[in-house]
Amino acid sequence: MVARILPRPTVLSQPYWDGCREGVLRLQHCADCAQYQFYPRIICSHCGGTRLAWQASRGCGVIASFTIVRHGISAAYPAPYTVVLVDLQEGPRMMSSIVDAEPDQLCVGARVEAAFAEWSEGMVLPVFRLVDNAEGESL
Ligand SMILES: [Zn+2]
Repeated sequence: MVARILPRPTVLSQPYWDGCREGVLRLQHCADCAQYQFYPRIICSHCGGTRLAWQASRGCGVIASFTIVRHGISAAYPAPYTVVLVDLQEGPRMMSSIVDAEPDQLCVGARVEAAFAEWSEGMVLPVFRLVDNAEGESL
């Protein structure tokens, strides 16, 4: 069986991965400028401050862009699957994937919410589910 390429948690990112295992999407929050950031960094990307703390995101956002991968790079990544850029309510944009939706249900502006998928034992990645489409129609 072909294995997926897995993220390698670091001291900096470990709280993020711990949160994913607990079903919580965590973002760094800056005490100096009150902005959130993703991915994890040692300084604030908005103001350069260093007073960063992990906070739970609401996990809600909208699709900023997406693409449908129709030819997987290996048997570990069965196609089709969707790569998506999500603008979280807290501000950061993150790359992820959409689950439990057909490609023709996706559109820029559709509301999504975080879910979590176990990629291997102990490694859980955030994914997103559609809440409704860009016209506000519930799915
Ligand atoms: Zn800041």
